[in-house]
Amino acid sequence: MYLQHCPRWRRAGLSALALVLASSLVGAQTQVKPPKNKYTPEQDVELGRQAAAEVRQQYPVISNDQIADYLAQLGNRLVEASPAELNHPVFEYSFTPVNLKDINAFALPGGPMFVNRGMFEAASTEGEVAGVMAHELAHVLLRHGTANATKAQNPWLQIGALGGAIAGAIVGGAAGSVIANGSQFGLGTLLLKYSREYEKQADLLGAQIMARAGYDPRDLARMFETIERQSKGGGPQWLSSHPNPGNRTAYIAQEAAQLEIVNPNTDATGFERTKQQFASLPRAKSMAEVANAGSGGGRGGPVSVGTVGDPVPPPSARHREVRGGQVFRASVPDNWQALSSNNSLRYVPENAYGQWRGQPVWTHGVEFGIARAGSRDLREATNALLDGLARGNPDLRLAGDQRSVRLSQRTAIGTPLVNRTSMGTTERIDLYTTFLADGNLFYYLTIAPDDEFPRYQSTFQRIGQSIRITDQ
Ligand SMILES: [Zn+2]
Repeated sequence: MYLQHCPRWRRAGLSALALVLASSLVGAQTQVKPPKNKYTPEQDVELGRQAAAEVRQQYPVISNDQIADYLAQLGNRLVEASPAELNHPVFEYSFTPVNLKDINAFALPGGPMFVNRGMFEAASTEGEVAGVMAHELAHVLLRHGTANATKAQNPWLQIGALGGAIAGAIVGGAAGSVIANGSQFGLGTLLLKYSREYEKQADLLGAQIMARAGYDPRDLARMFETIERQSKGGGPQWLSSHPNPGNRTAYIAQEAAQLEIVNPNTDATGFERTKQQFASLPRAKSMAEVANAGSGGGRGGPVSVGTVGDPVPPPSARHREVRGGQVFRASVPDNWQALSSNNSLRYVPENAYGQWRGQPVWTHGVEFGIARAGSRDLREATNALLDGLARGNPDLRLAGDQRSVRLSQRTAIGTPLVNRTSMGTTERIDLYTTFLADGNLFYYLTIAPDDEFPRYQSTFQRIGQSIRITDQ
């Protein structure tokens, strides 16, 4: 029974008899069961911890004790009111205010929650803030992020277990689009974009948690209505990751009718004080501003890394380690930025990626990726990949013989290529391919203008030698 785990009950000094009576009244609440999940709660925590560290780096986190304390108090009250069987002891809850005006809040697997100033300011009561937080908390408790990963057909996730290593890829590289648009390998989307079925689960469990924490669950529905109203003409991110399953207000009201609001919370002073604190902060940024300040990346396409045509700074001799999920790690110059797509990860120097006369161009850097292999023969699979590349780059040509090489101590093929760029120059591309344990193709590709290639050769070699494929 949930009620015994809620300290508010004990504080309220209710007799055992009252407890029994109250619990019989709430007996008709909807049972919400966590979906199938092949990951452990520990993996949720590891994933969320690493992703949260990146979010804290890239988002304008608010450092104001009063706001932080208020959110923590509210959040912890909801956690205390959570069903014990879903509240895994390893979870690490945190509640971080962010100075963004977009109406959004999100929680990462294992507990870290972020609440935008815009969300708080759109709320007219504490109950409405509690509603959004209870809904987010429900996603954490039901482990919807890793349940999504369990269902996904993402090649980066097919290999091995989802370990902490993959988290770096979730929000890596690109500020802004990080969580909002999904990012490296689409994992951001995977962990934070929920199905309508999961939404309904989070609404119902959120409503139950609210009632046990002393809030009217109908505030949850009211907040959703506010969000939808304010989103006319350009919906907030919150709605795109939390789609309305339909009849939201109606089924929340129905659930609320089955619930006893325990020890109703009527003190609004903390809420009002916190509103004033928010109002005293410097201007809130928009998500778009954060994205522009960063390096771009993620779905929807990065804008640019610097300005194409401006001089490209030489690769730093200092390298940093990067990871591509459970698939590989490598080291790249620490002045190169990450750009990502669903199946590849690029590292690009300043001014080497962007638009040139309306055409997307990429002039320098490296790419790691996974491609579906159409053959068990490495040469055939490589040539199929080359055919694909040539379709997008009609001037791509072989620049010499393909040769056998070693990549992460595996048999690999190196293919030298040249290409005529849309800027009218010639570029040198080298492609290295090897099989992963699951039969997919792993590739490492280097690119530099032909006349600058000698200056990049040792960097490309050093990166190539640092690659460790870790798929088994
Ligand atoms: Zn949701």
